[in-house]
Amino acid sequence: MNKAQISDLKALLSSPKNIVIVPHRNPDGDAMGSTLGLYHYLKLNNHNAIVIAPNDYPNFLKWLPGDDTVLKFETQQNDCIPHIENADLIFTLDFNAFHRAGHQMEEVLEASKSTKIMIDHHQQPDDYAKYMYSDVTMSSTCEMVYNFIDMLGDTQKIEATIATCLYVGIMTDTGSFRFPATTTKTHHVIGSLIEKGADNSQIHNNIYDSNSYSRLQLLGRAMQNLKVIPELRTAYTTLSQAELDQYNFKKGDTEGFVNYGLSLEGIIFAAIFIENKQDNIIKISFRSKGEFSVNEFSRAHFHGGGHTNAAGGRSETDMETAINKFISILPQYKKDLSQAQNGH
Ligand code: 5GP
Ligand code: MN
Repeated sequence: MNKAQISDLKALLSSPKNIVIVPHRNPDGDAMGSTLGLYHYLKLNNHNAIVIAPNDYPNFLKWLPGDDTVLKFETQQNDCIPHIENADLIFTLDFNAFHRAGHQMEEVLEASKSTKIMIDHHQQPDDYAKYMYSDVTMSSTCEMVYNFIDMLGDTQKIEATIATCLYVGIMTDTGSFRFPATTTKTHHVIGSLIEKGADNSQIHNNIYDSNSYSRLQLLGRAMQNLKVIPELRTAYTTLSQAELDQYNFKKGDTEGFVNYGLSLEGIIFAAIFIENKQDNIIKISFRSKGEFSVNEFSRAHFHGGGHTNAAGGRSETDMETAINKFISILPQYKKDLSQAQNGH
């Protein structure tokens, strides 16, 4: 975003506006942290702002300040559509293409005449937004919202609710400050958020220490199912719908499971295949270390995308077919996988 655009936005935001803020479908910590962080900032500046999530999100995010104000498009369409139609501005956060808001919401966003502002760190963004703050080197959209508020000259307005929301997304998207996109700047931002009232230890507790017994059992099942292909430095696991049902699966329960494969010595590519009988798909998460791009891999073979080291995708087949496809493709990448450096 250049200086002219920033002063445009300053002018736009200098009087109260109707503003809708949208995260991607199946919102994660960064999506909800960034949208709610921006929401509190805009409310503080007297805007009529609202967060509209395409669908529901996991319980471990339901304590976020402002959670009770969030509308969900999937179940509250009639309440949501007027907000979108009357919006002066629509911020789209933590995603790079309207289809990431889900099929129904995609159409409504496309039809909307309001000014769009994108803040996002995913690769290959679409160009629907008049104002685009897209930076794939950023740790998280939450770090970018902090920078955005800074660009507007308003860091002094960041108080505890904003700081808490932004802390959540930086923490979750960096795997608690350990992924390579975590920079000194990220740590400076985190330091500033703690100064402004984010209770770091309590936030960690709220997000990571709210496990149910059945979730840990489900993790155990996923670990039992883990397969390793050492010569391709790859590990993958599966969870069938029957296994999810057996352990009383709830949204968000499988978050982070894919990372365990990557923690194996020598492994640089990990995947988890999760059956979803309701949508009739296999949802896939890919993670990598170093230069092997799971964004490219997922785009090429599994209708997905994301970042170099974290991407999602899907297969509209049964589990066995999806796994067979995955295994049959892997040898094409033998050179990339076997030569890749292990991390950084
Ligand atoms: P996850 O595996 O946690 O669902 O997603 C990992 C990363 O990839 C996240 O940043 C997520 O936003 C992105 N992602 C997940 N699924 C898709 C997809 O189907 N398409 C694209 N473009 N990105 C995805
Ligand atoms: Mn993110």
